[in-house]
Amino acid sequence: MEIIIHRGIDQIGGCITEISTDKARILIDLGQNLPDGDGIVQDNFANLDSIEKLTNGIDAIFYTHYHGDHIGLFPLIKDTISQYIGSVAKRVLLCKHERLSYIPGRKEISLNEISKIERMLSFVPNQVIEIGDIKITPYFVSHSAYDAYMFLIEANGKRILHTGDFRGHGYLSKGLLPTIEKHILKRGKIDFLITEGTMLSRLDERVRHENELKREVVELMKQYKNVFVMCSSTDMERLATFHAANKEVAGRPFVCDDFQKNVLEIFSDTAGKMSRLFDFGEPYSFRKENFKLVNWMQDKGFCMLVRATNKFDDYLTFLETQIDKSETVLIYSMWKEYINPTSKHAKKVYLDFVAKFPVVKKIHTSGHASAECLAEVCNLVNPTSGIIPIHSEHSADYQKLPINEDLKLKIITTSKILNGVIVEIPIK
Ligand SMILES: [Zn+2]
Ligand SMILES: [Zn+2]
Repeated sequence: MEIIIHRGIDQIGGCITEISTDKARILIDLGQNLPDGDGIVQDNFANLDSIEKLTNGIDAIFYTHYHGDHIGLFPLIKDTISQYIGSVAKRVLLCKHERLSYIPGRKEISLNEISKIERMLSFVPNQVIEIGDIKITPYFVSHSAYDAYMFLIEANGKRILHTGDFRGHGYLSKGLLPTIEKHILKRGKIDFLITEGTMLSRLDERVRHENELKREVVELMKQYKNVFVMCSSTDMERLATFHAANKEVAGRPFVCDDFQKNVLEIFSDTAGKMSRLFDFGEPYSFRKENFKLVNWMQDKGFCMLVRATNKFDDYLTFLETQIDKSETVLIYSMWKEYINPTSKHAKKVYLDFVAKFPVVKKIHTSGHASAECLAEVCNLVNPTSGIIPIHSEHSADYQKLPINEDLKLKIITTSKILNGVIVEIPIK
């Protein structure tokens, strides 16, 4: 068996992991590098030639979730290679790309993307898929993308757990440790743990439970009548935090645009059937001509989901003439560095957008596991051969985690052969 970390060591995003036997080869994620502050993506793999070479002989690709840094290169994949993703994740991805097709000049690109997504296959949580002699089992995890999974990969008598992006402090995190214990470890030991470590370079950030955020949002909503919210339009748990908080401050409409409404409908139709927290009911799609809605917003206040786009600039210019500035707030609910002007991660469009609001409050918690949670997972899984840290700025930082001393010796950041398994990590 061979594990190749094509990309993901010493960088966040752009994850590509290959696992192969003599008879089968699969990829876990085919992510694109994250864009810089100006939205420019630099990615050596993002061309047909490189992807052709990389995927030559690959039988199937399994995506942990729909974030671009895990799935972004999918439009370059030939139709002969099967691509697998969660069934709800597929719907969200399709919804997003249908939306993108309206951007002028993007029609052709979008048509290709949409046809690739439509061809994607879905897996069922906890059910094994066999690709040649490799068995892959997806297990649900909580992340800032809904319908995200970790994968158990079994072949040649070896067992690998690839966590993807995950966290322990979401509404849907309760099953994390029990799943590892009762479903994964009960059937045998794990040889290799391939896991994320995003938060190791962000130890200054306080990781709080999504519930704590909700309480804080309710307090702000009591203080401010007109509440604008800037958060990821596909982060179901965060959207639920704002929706639930707005419900507590009764009488105010929950407003968004058509695209966001479509995404919320997918969540209501799936997760919403299992928990009322994710049933978003009937959100209001904003139109300047909808006098009834505008009057209601003026009268009672509102919670409105916004994004840094021209359309929302226009809505905002209109609403500014209708509402009282002193009663208005923007809750910024994304990573703080995107709006830190001195940060290398600062996004200019976000900074410009945020500057339009009289008051900005930051309320956020990460979509990634805290250092304590990572350590807990490592100690619990206790892999016999090695821990391969991916999705972290400095993979060697894993040594700083409060994990068992013998596990620290098992952290792998360079190529080696261990107990008959070849681990290949290309030098950057
Ligand atoms: Zn990621
Ligand atoms: Zn992610």
